[in-house]
Amino acid sequence: MPVPSHPSPTPRTWDVIVVGAGPAGATAARVAAGNGCATLLLERATIPRYKTCGGGLIGASLAALPPGLPLNVLDTAGLFTFALNGRAERTRTSREPTCALVFRSELDAALTEAAAAAGATVRDATALTSLDQEGDTVTVRTNRGDPLRARVVIGADGSAGRVARYVGVRCAQVDLALEVEAPVDARTADRWRGRVLLEWGPLPGSFGWVFPKGDVCTAGVVAARGTPVALRAYKDDFLRRHGLDTATPLHDTGHLTRCRQPDSPLARGRVLVAGDAAALLDHWSREGISYALRSGDLAGRAAARVLAAPDEEAVRAATDHYGRRIDEVLGAEMRASATLMRVFARNPALVHTALTRLPPMWRRLDAYIAGHSGVAEIMTTPLARAAAALGTALPARPAGGPPHG
Ligand SMILES: Cc1cc2nc3c(=O)[nH]c(=O)nc-3n(C[C@H](O)[C@H](O)[C@H](O)COP(=O)(O)OP(=O)(O)OC[C@H]3O[C@@H](n4cnc5c(N)ncnc54)[C@H](O)[C@@H]3O)c2cc1C
Repeated sequence: MPVPSHPSPTPRTWDVIVVGAGPAGATAARVAAGNGCATLLLERATIPRYKTCGGGLIGASLAALPPGLPLNVLDTAGLFTFALNGRAERTRTSREPTCALVFRSELDAALTEAAAAAGATVRDATALTSLDQEGDTVTVRTNRGDPLRARVVIGADGSAGRVARYVGVRCAQVDLALEVEAPVDARTADRWRGRVLLEWGPLPGSFGWVFPKGDVCTAGVVAARGTPVALRAYKDDFLRRHGLDTATPLHDTGHLTRCRQPDSPLARGRVLVAGDAAALLDHWSREGISYALRSGDLAGRAAARVLAAPDEEAVRAATDHYGRRIDEVLGAEMRASATLMRVFARNPALVHTALTRLPPMWRRLDAYIAGHSGVAEIMTTPLARAAAALGTALPARPAGGPPHG
């Protein structure tokens, strides 16, 4: 395992076991260890591991990274091209290019190193297989021998994780994303350098993206789960139209994304969930790294509070506090993005027109990408409120139809 782990003695019962070394789990483990908890971080894969993801870090993600994290930024997007199913293409310029493009294998390995440096013990190639609780102890079984015990478990095992099932996370929206990492020649790399493409697709709520990363472009499509054949056809068409179907992809994968119901649980007893495992994700953009980093931080702090709790009532108060903090920090964002998604799924042309023809709307989105405001701020502008009202009043119109305005 390449991640250095502190040679601390193995306790009979860990203070905290974190499951999954993505942005949520690595952050939770770093914060819990930094708060003095004896912390074990388990990861099913061997680190560094591939993760299907655009690897786009918006300002909110960059702000939530630990200071000084060595980050290999492959490109920074200052140009955003929007298109409506291949038509009405328009490029807008960021005031301040902030959207950093990285490989997730590298980001997640760096975050895991930071957790180890804070004192967490890291065990990769170790998958949780089941967990149960009795009294003040959670028992975790893995594919590697003897059961492990902890006072608190943080499930950060992603969108299809076992801990989410154990906690009973309920989802309001489940989508399927298909993505390739396509090697590109020097001319194609030049064409994409510094520019991200977002194209509203032909299926309800769908879009495609191209993220430049030097001699590789990450490109993919996403839509509601349930139409995999149509989504694959959209992906093939999208890649062909953007000249990204020529070389054999380095990776060609699919992954589900999930957005929670607002009242979905975030804990069961001494087991908390964070990041994708808690289905914390932007409904519209499916941006999830900032949600994972921020909820991982809150979960690491909550674990320390649970440990300090003198009795089970205080444990419940600490986990309730975690739920409230998640709602304060991320709840308004998710509610606003759910509204935006409803408008967009019904009428992508309206959202396209607002972003490409109405400068104040682009400035709001640009500020959100830069991390100066949130989706909630976009949706509270009079313009966005009117667009939301109009968007739901208008008849549904696929992205292939003529744009409004
Ligand atoms: C195609 C696609 C593109 C995306 N693009 C972007 C983007 O550009 N920007 C953005 O912000 N968000 C993006 N997202 C969302 C983002 O990828 C997720 O929100 C983010 O990865 C969530 O981080 P996490 O730590 O919660 O989970 P993950 O990153 O999924 O990490 C979970 C970890 O848990 C491990 N694990 C799973 N089961 C077990 C087990 N039983 N035992 C031990 N370990 C286990 C996994 O191996 C994994 O390492 C994208 C998502 C998809 C599907």
